[in-house]
Amino acid sequence: MPQISVIGAGSVVFTGRLIIDLCLTKSLYGYTVVLMDIDEKRLNTMYSLATRYIKEMNASFTIKKTMNRKEALTNADFVINTVKVGGYEPMEIERKIAEKYGYYRGIGDRVSDYYGGIGAYHQLNFFLDLARDVEDICPDAWLLQAANPVFEGTTLISRETKAKVVGICHGHFSYTEIVKALGLEIEDVDVTIAGFNHNIWLVNFLYRGENAYPFLDQWIQKEAEKYWNSSEFLNSPPWSVEQLSPAAVNMYKLYGLFPIGDTVRSASPWWYHTDLETKKKWFGPTGGFDSEIGWSIYLNQLKTMLDQLYAWSNSPEVALIKAYPPSFSGEQHIPFIDAIANNKEVQLQLNIPNNGAIDGIPNNVAVEIPTLINKSKDDRKKVNALRIGKLPKRLMLHVLVPRMLRMEQILQAFLEGDRKSLLLTIIEDHRTKSFEDASMLIDEQLGQSWNTEASKHYKQ
Ligand code: NAD
Repeated sequence: MPQISVIGAGSVVFTGRLIIDLCLTKSLYGYTVVLMDIDEKRLNTMYSLATRYIKEMNASFTIKKTMNRKEALTNADFVINTVKVGGYEPMEIERKIAEKYGYYRGIGDRVSDYYGGIGAYHQLNFFLDLARDVEDICPDAWLLQAANPVFEGTTLISRETKAKVVGICHGHFSYTEIVKALGLEIEDVDVTIAGFNHNIWLVNFLYRGENAYPFLDQWIQKEAEKYWNSSEFLNSPPWSVEQLSPAAVNMYKLYGLFPIGDTVRSASPWWYHTDLETKKKWFGPTGGFDSEIGWSIYLNQLKTMLDQLYAWSNSPEVALIKAYPPSFSGEQHIPFIDAIANNKEVQLQLNIPNNGAIDGIPNNVAVEIPTLINKSKDDRKKVNALRIGKLPKRLMLHVLVPRMLRMEQILQAFLEGDRKSLLLTIIEDHRTKSFEDASMLIDEQLGQSWNTEASKHYKQ
């Protein structure tokens, strides 16, 4: 039977959701699901919970577990990558080092976390290694890239290997929060969202066939201030309220299209992020997802979730379907697999090479875009981006092209092991005080014990 292999299956964010989505997708019953992780405790926990959940749901999957990646890839038809190399701790130490040199919240994009440390080295290195194994061991498998950075990762894999890769993120679903705030019927809304991962924009917003942006303009004029003073905005976790935050509204005014999902965090201009007080002004009382407050809420939540999973796995008497009722997670991995495997036509929001979809972006840059899965017999022809055409010039020049350039710099530094390029990228940061400081920062970060390999890789 066909096989789905989850690499990094100890993931707090993904594995539970994937298993529930699978249980709700009867057309995939009979599949083998291989869970692979290097952390034995997490792997055993996810394996036992997955096995129990499937049984409680009366679903029919064969679940296997392994700590050997090559074994997991053998016979795989779909490979889902949810790996975070080294966990989050080293990134926090690197962040502290950067703060010593004046880089508040660390180096990286506005979101210093998701690159996974300096130059995104560990994540990119892992992605390439995995994709090369896929080429060798299961060359016909689809590689579903969920681990961050999705933009750099999907571009890298699609350029450097023959693996059939798609990047998948759930961030675009945040448009539904706009729909809810405007009081529109979701079934009558039609959106086109496009850009790069964590940098996506509401290109078209239609309600019953008519442009719905005027509703949004009206909400901004009449309702926004009220919302920003409401207990919903003031007391919710940052990721639930960023979509309609002052930052999002101001970005819309600046760039001409409304930013969607993580875009509000990671593509917002640097002057929203200079210190905690400024962040609070733009993102609400926590200072947003990536402030010292917001990010520690997130990390604590991940830890609580992991502890909860351990507790459930040690309590066989707990009915998991009661603790975690089955409903579709909104993740697109299983719908993608279902569409490809069972020849279904669906539209998803995927990260794939541009190939002419957005004007002014090279073909070999991964864009996040509405994508039609069709019934073509040739697997590679099944995945087709909708054509977007031109995006507003100001948005292109001030947001998308600079972000693309940064992705190219990171990939070039990674592929050529070029420490000078890494240094030049960091020096361009508006917070850099001197060439010497930036050089010392890189040396200090690469001098950390977990960066020994990275330090050898980025040659002086
Ligand atoms: P996590 O730390 O809970 O899980 C990562 C797993 O990877 C761990 O179980 C770890 O043991 C495993 N791992 C580490 N090195 C490995 C290796 N060499 N081989 C196999 N397994 C290995 O992380 P998380 O919070 O679940 O996030 C996972 C990734 O997903 C991160 O990159 C995160 O940024 C990303 N993410 C993506 C989205 C999206 O929508 N695309 C959303 C949230 C998180």
